[in-house]
Amino acid sequence: MSDFKVTELAADLDFSALPYWDVVIIGAGPAGLAASLTTAHRGLTTLVVEAKDKPGGQPQFLYADKRIVDIPGFPDGVTGQEISERTYRQAVDALVQFRFNEELFAIEDTNQVENDDPLKRVVTSKGSYLARKVIIACGLLHYPRQLPVLDRLGSRNVHYKIPKIGDYEGRRVAVVGGGDSALDAALMVLGRRGEVDLLVREAMPVGKADSLARMKAAGGRLRTSSEIGAAEFAGEDIALSLTGDERLVVSLVIVQIGFLSAKETFERLQLRLNDDGSITIDPYFETSRRGLFAVGDVHGDIKLIAVAWAEGIQAAIHAFKEITSPYWLNEKRLRDQKIAMIGEKIAKFAMEQKKQKRIERPAS
Ligand SMILES: Cc1cc2nc3c(=O)[nH]c(=O)nc-3n(C[C@H](O)[C@H](O)[C@H](O)COP(=O)(O)OP(=O)(O)OC[C@H]3O[C@@H](n4cnc5c(N)ncnc54)[C@H](O)[C@@H]3O)c2cc1C
Repeated sequence: MSDFKVTELAADLDFSALPYWDVVIIGAGPAGLAASLTTAHRGLTTLVVEAKDKPGGQPQFLYADKRIVDIPGFPDGVTGQEISERTYRQAVDALVQFRFNEELFAIEDTNQVENDDPLKRVVTSKGSYLARKVIIACGLLHYPRQLPVLDRLGSRNVHYKIPKIGDYEGRRVAVVGGGDSALDAALMVLGRRGEVDLLVREAMPVGKADSLARMKAAGGRLRTSSEIGAAEFAGEDIALSLTGDERLVVSLVIVQIGFLSAKETFERLQLRLNDDGSITIDPYFETSRRGLFAVGDVHGDIKLIAVAWAEGIQAAIHAFKEITSPYWLNEKRLRDQKIAMIGEKIAKFAMEQKKQKRIERPAS
């Protein structure tokens, strides 16, 4: 079935004045980028929220220099960086809007309805967005936990991985976290004649005792039961307000508070999951929550760029049809949903019968 109407987005559209987005996409990896340019090419206002500071996903961050040889149309191969940059440029040209360094926290239902479509509220580390459809394309890998109180500052001296410590030689540094990676970061700074305050939320750091002892011996200060309540610029430095009204002025903050697992994100979104922790989808890439689609590594067992692209494109077209089609074009969709629901009911009934029989069977 071909699309019956395609309208391009106007080049002078004021995206800041939109009452809601047609589509919000989580993740600017291959799946999210392909989905975004497909919805934008069909005239849907599209926003991509990406946790990292750059687009591209795994090809950009895990194997930027590798020559990828299994993408059709590139007989000489293409690097992870190049394929990421090309796809991103195509999305930008299609007027897709991007928010980087912003992480998805929750997707809430609202009472607002647009053309029979209940709007969702996509809550991120920096704000919230209303959307008609949401496409989850955030991959399965783990990403560092962020601290919104520091992100709001937008400082280049807040790091979630260890920066070039040499650039901060002899400076005062706050390291947030009490695990092994936080202690390692503290020791690296101290090794470069830096001053360290280790801020630990708990009563005791959970990292290795000998690392903690080495940190203290090297002059590192341990502040337990301590959290950052507020942060502001103090000239070139950052002033942190800590628990108990303490104030700490530092040149650099290194945050090492663990990783956010994709499974944790999926559970928070209250999506039905498969046994392996990936997201369950129907043949239209829609999840157990209506209006939320999932594409790419988040669900499938074939993890390839071309597959992520293809899924992003398909979900985008299903979202487009749901937004723009008259109900009769969606009839097959509705029928399939009913059949799936009946199938689920039959399977549940059969399971209950089986359980009942086991209870009734006399013990031999
Ligand atoms: C070492 C390695 C080599 C590979 N080589 C090849 C190859 O040669 N050819 C091939 O076809 N495939 C290859 N793959 C597989 C391919 O990279 C993946 O299948 C593909 O990247 C999946 O794309 P995706 O968009 O689903 O997820 P990802 O690429 O993981 O992108 C997800 C994006 O979502 C963002 N994100 C995550 N959580 C959030 C959140 N809460 N809020 C906002 N954003 C978030 C991430 O930062 C990321 O940018 C390789 C994979 C690895 C690990």
